[in-house]
Amino acid sequence: MSDTILYPLLSISRLRIGLDGVGVTSLIAGAGCPLRCRWCLNKKLLQEAPAKPVTAEKLIDMVKIDDLYFRATGGGVTFGGGESLLHANFLLRFRELCPEDWNISAETSLAVPEENIRTALKVVNDFIVDCKDLDPVIYRNYTGGDPALMRRNLQILLDEAGPKRVLVRVPLIPKFNKQSNQQHSAELLRQMGFTNLDLFTYIKR
Ligand code: SF4
Repeated sequence: MSDTILYPLLSISRLRIGLDGVGVTSLIAGAGCPLRCRWCLNKKLLQEAPAKPVTAEKLIDMVKIDDLYFRATGGGVTFGGGESLLHANFLLRFRELCPEDWNISAETSLAVPEENIRTALKVVNDFIVDCKDLDPVIYRNYTGGDPALMRRNLQILLDEAGPKRVLVRVPLIPKFNKQSNQQHSAELLRQMGFTNLDLFTYIKR
């Protein structure tokens, strides 16, 4: 695989604990997202232009300053965004080159083609899914995306990764859903077989 695969790096947030993945993590934010969520906290993430393209080697160089913390705590890196799984081939390359005991997590809305999910499954240890809402109308109104794609990818993730490797975040979204919708989404996810759910409220800034 060529080193010309680039990642549109926006920022690296170091020494995170208990926020996104096991142990000490560095959150690596990348640009680009197929969705257009109404309360998106950072519109800049929707554009590729402001990002700095980096190779996997360069990115590993940038984050390895915390190698000792990663190894001591079972932590590693979390790819966020934007949509991290737009860059599934980059994640493959990163895994090939990074220390094998680094944990790799990916934050995702699952709004990507199935092949990206299957590629990521080869190298990502843990998935943190923001499902928005499982009601198709609410989902479409809020994100502009395809609810059926998200549901299909949820099922693939469950079938291939199993529930322990997946945390599904289920938001209460002011003005777009109600607590009853949030509870209904959580119930559907439990019926599917997911066991790690995080119910929370979006705070619009
Ligand atoms: S999935 Fe995240 S980055 Fe993409 S539009 Fe929604 S809130 Fe913004």
